[in-house]
Amino acid sequence: MGTTLRGTVQSGRREAAGFLALPWVADQLRGKAGLVPYPGTLNVRLTDSAALDAWRELRGAERGLRLASPNPAFCDASCFPAVVNGRVRGLAVVPCVPGYPPDVVEVVAAEGLRECLGLADGDEVTLTLTDASSEDPDAERFSCVLFDFEGTLVDFQWRLADAEAELRGELAKLGFDLEPFARDNYAVLRTRALELAPSDEVRELVDQRFGPIYDRYDADALSRWSLIAGARELLGALRASGRRLALVTNIGRRAIERALPAFGLDRAFDAVVTRNDAARAKPSGDGLLRALGQVGQSPRNTLMVGDSLSDLLAARDAGVFVAIVRGGESPAADVQRHGPDFLLASLDEVAHLLRSEQP
Ligand SMILES: [Mg+2]
Repeated sequence: MGTTLRGTVQSGRREAAGFLALPWVADQLRGKAGLVPYPGTLNVRLTDSAALDAWRELRGAERGLRLASPNPAFCDASCFPAVVNGRVRGLAVVPCVPGYPPDVVEVVAAEGLRECLGLADGDEVTLTLTDASSEDPDAERFSCVLFDFEGTLVDFQWRLADAEAELRGELAKLGFDLEPFARDNYAVLRTRALELAPSDEVRELVDQRFGPIYDRYDADALSRWSLIAGARELLGALRASGRRLALVTNIGRRAIERALPAFGLDRAFDAVVTRNDAARAKPSGDGLLRALGQVGQSPRNTLMVGDSLSDLLAARDAGVFVAIVRGGESPAADVQRHGPDFLLASLDEVAHLLRSEQP
């Protein structure tokens, strides 16, 4: 049960982006609410007295999620899970300062809400708010399922060793010491190079050099991929059960846009997040959280289905449950050491698992 507030969009003071970029704010939004925020908030002015009363009551109960400032120069903030116009999940954030306007609600989400909902100043919006403590963790178990692509829905064909050797070669040419990269896979090589790059110029060069290499190995794998038996039927059945489905893959957009129609999967997902859509590829949880923002679901109700250690670590990073299917990229023993929530013999078992975990 939520509290529905109606109001109108107004321009804010544009201070929100700076606040959301503070490391402690970003860390706590991610850790406590599973949200990687878009750098800006949607400001909503409540216009009718019923909305003002309901908002005052919700705030007064002090049951929002608390963002606690480690620095006395900044105030704490209180957050309430919010769904905007029935479509996009976000958080209503209230700075805990005396004199904060009682008729203003600032909403943060994974996406820019103005762009994603086509909103302009003066437009009416509805916010459905819940107090964080009333969310039942088991109410909608696995109402959302995230799927990895290669090794999970299609067989694994990427030529890992060749690609990684080529990527290391580029790092050497760019002047990186290769020692810190010794244990990194193709995805972590880029993430770490961006972290260690001495300047924005070098960061840009990393992406300029890596992008075409990734795309070439994707295209090579695309020429050999075949769909895992039962994958299309599984996705269709999960969709028909009312669950939200998203694809979160380290494959690039170019190959995925060709692969999905080729396998009859172009309408299988509510959201598709490729390597090109997330700041950091898996094993970071960035792409998973991005997908959850797009489908309006919370990590605690979500299952990630993948075939690799990267999927497992990404799921942990994003705070979602994880099922690993044997026989893909990572040997079962490697995965087992990290204790997945479920280790499945085949993709078919996802249906059995979810049947016993009805949403
Ligand atoms: Mg995979």
